[in-house]
Amino acid sequence: MILLCERCYAPIDPDTEGHYRLSHIDHADAAGNVTWRDAVVHTAPCAAAGSHWAHERQDRAA
Ligand SMILES: [Zn+2]
Repeated sequence: MILLCERCYAPIDPDTEGHYRLSHIDHADAAGNVTWRDAVVHTAPCAAAGSHWAHERQDRAA
């Protein structure tokens, strides 16, 4: 299974990259059984998808 970061949408290698696993409730059925969705996010700061943060960091390093 490929893990995708919920913030930057980049793939996460679970063996080499620090990450959190988050559980979100998807829905509950009439009997009250909850279906969970798991998401992962990098532990280190990463740019939110669609932001210009990563591009700005590259400009500063150059
Ligand atoms: Zn990320």
